[in-house]
Amino acid sequence: MTLGFGRPYLAIPGPSVMPDRVLRAMHQASPNIYEGPLTEMVQTLWPDLRAVACTTQNVAIYIANGHAVWEAANANMFSRGDKALVLATGHFGLSWAGTARAVGVEVEVLDFGKSNAADMGRVEAALRADVHHEIRAVLTTHVDTASSLRTDIPALRAAIDAAKHPALLVVDCIASLGCDEFRMDEWGVDVTVSASQKGLMVPPGMGFVWFSEKARAVCRTSGLRTPYWDWGPRADGPDFWQYWNGTAPTHHLFGLRESLNMILHEEGLANVWARHAVLAGSVWAAIDAWNAGNPEIAMNVADAKHRSHAVTAARFGAPHATRLREWTEHRAGVTLGIGLGMATQSDPTSSGFLRVGHMGHVNAHMTLGALAVMEAGMVALNIPHGSGALAAAAAVIGRAARD
Ligand SMILES: *Cc1c(COP(=O)(O)O)cnc(C)c1O
Repeated sequence: MTLGFGRPYLAIPGPSVMPDRVLRAMHQASPNIYEGPLTEMVQTLWPDLRAVACTTQNVAIYIANGHAVWEAANANMFSRGDKALVLATGHFGLSWAGTARAVGVEVEVLDFGKSNAADMGRVEAALRADVHHEIRAVLTTHVDTASSLRTDIPALRAAIDAAKHPALLVVDCIASLGCDEFRMDEWGVDVTVSASQKGLMVPPGMGFVWFSEKARAVCRTSGLRTPYWDWGPRADGPDFWQYWNGTAPTHHLFGLRESLNMILHEEGLANVWARHAVLAGSVWAAIDAWNAGNPEIAMNVADAKHRSHAVTAARFGAPHATRLREWTEHRAGVTLGIGLGMATQSDPTSSGFLRVGHMGHVNAHMTLGALAVMEAGMVALNIPHGSGALAAAAAVIGRAARD
């Protein structure tokens, strides 16, 4: 039988759950794009977009997904033949490197594998070896959504400074923004990219690039810049159409206004980060308890301090992860994330990985519900697992919300 009738829950690492309020804010007639309420409302977005990245510097909005804002950043930062150093801790770091290489950037990849945090000693050594300072930018994911590894950005800044290297620090916060603590200015980040459909709880279709004054000055003559991707008019206008190089993404902007109200003006950014930390901790507690009765079930990232608070990658042993995902989606209304980049599709072990998304508009009952559904699926499918996972997950939440 199926018990999936009811409200479905998309627990994948993006797109994330959209609040009904965001959808309602978008549900309105087409606005005038030349003057009036839309153009006035957009002026209120700029300070809040800066606030959500903890910066006072520049921000550009693009009608784009995450892959496109990689290209936006590349186009503004580089000329053909420039050098970049990319830290890879999973599928997304490698993909970003590929987009830069495809437009003629000479990319050196430091690949730390799929389960280990970036080694800042290796980063510092690579930068010291670049005695003529040819590396223009250091690119990293904050959270690699495939591995769920989180990179320590202040430690990366310290490594660049220790090497006395002038490269720009460029961070992909597509999975982490509005989930994991991120402080662009305080942490010395020059360029940050993100997108609308994860922590920001808006449908896919808007991308963002924040850039420092230093990045603006260093990149003034970049040869890969094209009219659409040029971050100058996207950030500065001054005519309304110039922010978008054409028609504004009208309804996404209404949705974004509502989500930023929720994040910044109701819950508060520090509380948003704290909520994600607790919910992530409850997922980890459940997986650890399952692991105690079946060592094939395990967290992908062993050390909690290197784990994302937005998504958790886990192994369940092939083919159990795929079977479990199918069961939870079709029998219980919870869609879990596929394993991404952990093994090639033809590799039989690829059915042994899954991810639990816990980003954005997610609260205690949703995360506990998703974990309980996973356990129900393990019972249904006879997947061996340790006991006490749900009690352990509930205890994490109960202890955090005692006061
Ligand atoms: C989701 C994601 C991307 C890709 O975003 P798309 O909108 O799917 O193109 C890139 N980087 C990270 C870290 C992501 O989480």
